[in-house]
Amino acid sequence: AKEKGRDNAQFFRPDMTNLATQKFGFEKEINEALVSDQFYLVYQPKVSVHQGHIMGLEVLIRWNHPTKGLISPAEFIPIAEESNLIIIVDEWVIDHTFAQCRMWHDQGAKCVPIAMNISGRHLVSETLVPYIAAKMAEYDIDGRFVEIEITEGVLLSDVERCIEVMAELKALNIKISIDDFGTGYSSLSYLKKLPLDILKIDQSFVNECDSHSEDGKICETIIQLAKNLDLGIVAEGVETAEQVEKLASLGCEIFQGYYFYKPMENLDMGELLMSGPSE
Ligand code: C2E
Ligand code: CA
Ligand code: CA
Ligand code: CA
Repeated sequence: AKEKGRDNAQFFRPDMTNLATQKFGFEKEINEALVSDQFYLVYQPKVSVHQGHIMGLEVLIRWNHPTKGLISPAEFIPIAEESNLIIIVDEWVIDHTFAQCRMWHDQGAKCVPIAMNISGRHLVSETLVPYIAAKMAEYDIDGRFVEIEITEGVLLSDVERCIEVMAELKALNIKISIDDFGTGYSSLSYLKKLPLDILKIDQSFVNECDSHSEDGKICETIIQLAKNLDLGIVAEGVETAEQVEKLASLGCEIFQGYYFYKPMENLDMGELLMSGPSE
């Protein structure tokens, strides 16, 4: 047992050091990725169940690392979120998203709202609203084509500050969605305090919504809640016709997921927007 204990200690220490070094290395690499164009954006349509129209897009970041290949945002965003690096990454996304939207507009594409994921740390910072406002002016983008997706987690940290920032975003006509709704630990009372527009049902509930699990009931409850509070509702991670049918029967009208479209690169997205009916 004693030997085992020593083994454990030996295991533990190098691992911890390694992790810290790895994380530091990762942060450095994220900085390098920003300056040497290793990030790019993909776009996933949100679809109306009625005519199959594209009602909006969500923009998602991708990292094409020179030696490691594609790295998922699920892997590097949480590391960036531990420091103000996330603000630099989010700003890169905002700038490139607006530049792309301007290009699509100029090419005559149908204009639809585009949603960006903003980290909680960034939302409560002093810099988000001035940065977005400056970029909207620079690219001449109207606020009604801009949406912000945030997760519930941020509301735990500083509700008063969230209310303040959200009011400033509303003043710019920007819409606000709660992402991964139902997975956070915050109280529901924030829903009436905050100027929210949309709830996105987390894909973990959508996955099994058509089976006999509790998830269908959870989806039903979330949809009812949204309707009672006069909020829009989007189901994300929709992969099957059965899920669409079930959620539509519960009153959900806007869908996002592989069943309709996978996230796509700018050229394919532009083509799709160009082919759609204009406003
Ligand atoms: P999220 O905001 O909840 O985004 C939805 C994720 O589900 C995306 O993964 C998307 O590609 C994936 N997805 C869409 N439809 C389906 C489906 O039908 N089935 C399944 N299994 N998955 C589907 P992705 O792109 O890997 O992003 C992961 C997370 O990373 C995002 O979750 C978001 O929290 C974060 N993220 C992505 N891009 C950005 C960004 O530009 N800024 C920030 N701050 N976070 C980002
Ligand atoms: Ca999202
Ligand atoms: Ca989500
Ligand atoms: Ca998520």
